[in-house]
Amino acid sequence: MIRTRFAPSPTGALHIGGLRTALYSFALAKHDKGEFILRIEDTDIKREVEGSKERIKEILKLFGMDWDGYFVQSDRAREGIYKKAAEALVEAGHAFYCDCKPRNAKEEGYSKELRDPCRDAKKKEGAIKLMVPDGEHVGFRDFVLDKEVTWETSTVADTTLLKSDGFPTYHLAVVVDDHDMDITHVLRGHDWMPSTPVHLLVYKCLGYEKPEIGHLTDILDPEGGKLSKRKGSTSVDGLLKEGYLPEAVLNFIMLLGWAPKDNRELFSLEEFVKAFDHKGFQKSNPVFNKEKLDWFNGEYIRQKSDPELLEAFKPFIPEGADAEKVKKVIPLIKDRIKTLADFKTMAGFLFEVKTVDPTQFGENHKIHLQKAAQAIAGSSDLMKVVEENKFKTGDFFMDLRIAIAGSRVTPPITDSIAILGKEETLARLKKFTD
Ligand code: GLU
Repeated sequence: MIRTRFAPSPTGALHIGGLRTALYSFALAKHDKGEFILRIEDTDIKREVEGSKERIKEILKLFGMDWDGYFVQSDRAREGIYKKAAEALVEAGHAFYCDCKPRNAKEEGYSKELRDPCRDAKKKEGAIKLMVPDGEHVGFRDFVLDKEVTWETSTVADTTLLKSDGFPTYHLAVVVDDHDMDITHVLRGHDWMPSTPVHLLVYKCLGYEKPEIGHLTDILDPEGGKLSKRKGSTSVDGLLKEGYLPEAVLNFIMLLGWAPKDNRELFSLEEFVKAFDHKGFQKSNPVFNKEKLDWFNGEYIRQKSDPELLEAFKPFIPEGADAEKVKKVIPLIKDRIKTLADFKTMAGFLFEVKTVDPTQFGENHKIHLQKAAQAIAGSSDLMKVVEENKFKTGDFFMDLRIAIAGSRVTPPITDSIAILGKEETLARLKKFTD
């Protein structure tokens, strides 16, 4: 049975790269009716950000990726699981103690010399480090990149496996856990590739069979380079706050590194799991294309019923907005918006008066607005006003939009006027007709 895991460190917001790793791991397992494990890798206590563990769980649930097993490494560390493995490695001559004080906390595990001066010192306490053999090769076949990757062990450092506080480093914990949890396929980001030779040696020294391992491509910024957490919002929460629907974000990341046999683009999670197979992994780095995400979002907004949209819009509608009015607005804007946040830009004027920039008006705006006000007051047709006065249709309605909404883009103007009401509409026009 296929068993995969998502192993985030709770060190801050979950980014789309992380969500993609979770999604592909989930799909790989579920496609074959396997199991998907969530493992919190929190042995670097100092880097833990409060609340991020809980948020990761909430996000996975929100996106429909429930797990079949849940583990927290710090709990397992307290049970002494990793210490036992590290001591067994010392016992077998594959690791050694080092009690040198790290110059700063960060340095432990990252000695500058590849071969540690303590490796032959036969010390009896301190951190435990891997004694990397020289003159050998380690390698594996990456099942995402579909190629053999090998290293000469002389390029691999004697790496810390257990810190002096008894907590494991990532390198030990990941190997022990993937083994203990019967993980068959490991999927992770490409930046973890340099750690893989260390893991391969630990597998071998502990006498464990190694799982299939695959490194996902990097997601690129459209402006060049790797997508950076610093630039714009690439966190899942950031995108949700910008008004992207979970279904759209999920569908967008499905195709950031994987492609179906046909050219299909729209997938629900269930459909994706069904279609997913590891042959679809792409070798070239995908680009984070926000226009594409906008397109997906528009598709999913339009698939929703009006009551569903009412729910989805909740965090985006102006405070205190009348629910009945919101209900009337939804059908007018759902075909025109890209994100849920567009509710305010597109329909905010129906709930509050917007500032109007008078330089936006055309030269005939006064007469346009006067005639419009008369027609609205007498409940007669605005098109008739245009015809009778031989106005230019586009110019007339543009002036009307600007006066009422402070914007050149609005839902259909007659519908907007109906929602706004005669009195409020006339009050807004009056400011520019006197
Ligand atoms: N804890 C690592 C991370 O935060 C997991 C790497 C792996 O999956 O092996 O990405």
